[in-house]
Amino acid sequence: MIKQVIRLMGCLPLLWWALPSQAAVILQYHHVSENTPAITSVTPAQFEEQMAYLAEQEFNVVSLETVLDAIRAKETLPPKTVAITFDDGFQNIADNGHPVLKRYGFPYTLFINPEPVGRPRMMSWDTLRQLTEEGATIANHSLRHDHLIRLLPGESRQEWESRIRSDIEQTEAIIQRETGHNLKALAYPYGEYNQALRRLLEQMGFVGIGQHSGAAGPYSSLTAIPRYPVAGPYADMATLKVKLHSLNMPVAAVDGEESELVGRNRPTLTVTLAGNDVRTKELMCYIQGQGAKAPTWLDDNTFTIQADLPMPAGRSRYNCTAPSRTQGGYYWYSQPWIQANSDGSWPAE
Ligand SMILES: [Zn+2]
Repeated sequence: MIKQVIRLMGCLPLLWWALPSQAAVILQYHHVSENTPAITSVTPAQFEEQMAYLAEQEFNVVSLETVLDAIRAKETLPPKTVAITFDDGFQNIADNGHPVLKRYGFPYTLFINPEPVGRPRMMSWDTLRQLTEEGATIANHSLRHDHLIRLLPGESRQEWESRIRSDIEQTEAIIQRETGHNLKALAYPYGEYNQALRRLLEQMGFVGIGQHSGAAGPYSSLTAIPRYPVAGPYADMATLKVKLHSLNMPVAAVDGEESELVGRNRPTLTVTLAGNDVRTKELMCYIQGQGAKAPTWLDDNTFTIQADLPMPAGRSRYNCTAPSRTQGGYYWYSQPWIQANSDGSWPAE
């Protein structure tokens, strides 16, 4: 008996270090409504079903702040941790989303643009303040929902930087004045970012949150936090369950992650993985619009992936997933791309 205990104790540290990192899944919603564009909406019935699932399956639904604090501290979160977020501040969130969240006692974050607050179909500051008393955190989505990475005609890099810095600072100051909240987390409008914007946020002490899919966790960059959009074709429960059980890809190093494609349209992404829990032989990438492609392994832990055909103008993605050796779920990692038309103009939204 004593021998067994000693042997077990001897094993414990090993088991501990072998444990894969736990992830936090961050969900991104826009509309909870029957009457809004399907591509950015869930119906009230779908939203109810999704929240009921989180409650029944005993997911650990926490505030986004809790997730960000854990990533900053490189701390492990409990299994099945989820944070819920909404972008843009539509009134239908207060009408159809909030009552459900309140009933389940789920905290959530609203990323809003101060300029359209109070316009038709948008929440007012009074409404936003009421929601904060019942579980909502208000955070930064920029003043006007501009495409932040784009330079104005004739604008220098330096002028761009001071314009964007001022936009983000003004937004944060208005949110703080109106609600008292000051999360210093920017949800990139349209999920668009590049290395220059990431560096600016880092200098400002802000976190940057995208719209590229993937589980967040200790291996996420604080200026490229992934979220799973839940809307349209991505709102069905079968798809959502896979994502809710996804794991944070243990990315130790990455090369080629400049999202903005200039003078290259078949970007090469090279990723080095940490640990040994990823079933590397089963790692598969999906090139948006081009289907699945197996990566090339440079060594046991480093793979590289490149599209065969040019990526389109506008926003696109590489998604890479692989099963865990010890857990049921899939590791999930996504790299967004953003590209202007060949004449330098941008595709219409
Ligand atoms: Zn938005």
